[in-house]
Amino acid sequence: MMREVFTTGVECDLGCQYCFASWGKYTPPLHIAKFSKSTASLVIPACDSEIQSFIYLLENNKFIFPNNTTGRIVITLSTKTILSEKTIMLLSDLNKLLKEQYNGFLKIGVSIPTISMAKELEPKAAPPLLRLKNLSLLKESGIIGYAIIKPILPFLPKNEFIDLSNILYNEGVKYVLIGQLYVDRNTPFFQKYIERKFEVKQRQVLWLPNKPVWDYVSDQDIEALLIQELENKSVKVFQSDIAFVNFLVNGN
Ligand code: SF4
Repeated sequence: MMREVFTTGVECDLGCQYCFASWGKYTPPLHIAKFSKSTASLVIPACDSEIQSFIYLLENNKFIFPNNTTGRIVITLSTKTILSEKTIMLLSDLNKLLKEQYNGFLKIGVSIPTISMAKELEPKAAPPLLRLKNLSLLKESGIIGYAIIKPILPFLPKNEFIDLSNILYNEGVKYVLIGQLYVDRNTPFFQKYIERKFEVKQRQVLWLPNKPVWDYVSDQDIEALLIQELENKSVKVFQSDIAFVNFLVNGN
């Protein structure tokens, strides 16, 4: 499955402190206007809260599907806001269109990396537990909904990950996408929470156009704990979006 990442290019104003999309060295992926020329089978507007600008494009008929694609089109969106009924209706129509005409589907992640520090780290996002209410509305509308614990914040107490997995299980979440924390040494976030406290490693970010090498932090113990807590409750955990889509398409 060929994967391309698109963005609407609209700046997000939710102000999450760990957001790499606000870094000076971040180069946005392809602009969504190029989507109509794409032969990608998997399309991901990159940013969490681009969901609203994506809806704007849909409402104003400015989102144009490739007219010669024979492949499957899967669209992934994610949010830290509370989706309105109107937004869910539009997304539901998009999901139906993808299913009927493009052998694909829409999936929407509710992003919830922390509960205890949400006010500090995600100042303008909806309260975490309210975000999860989106999931029942998405389910009623036939859209695949799931939770995202990404980035995994290594400075949270371990108990918070156990609490999070219990909350997600109690909300009926079936799928969780997890991921490590990219960091920029020049941000106040890095200096306050990461510097001299955690080992910083490097990896190439393959889904960005210039494939930059970025610093990241991962805590194997927390990841293992989170995976174990969720899998013990029969919640399926994915460490990459492409693995998640492959599972939904092929069942493995
Ligand atoms: S919602 Fe997403 S894109 Fe917006 S600031 Fe937060 S992490 Fe960044």
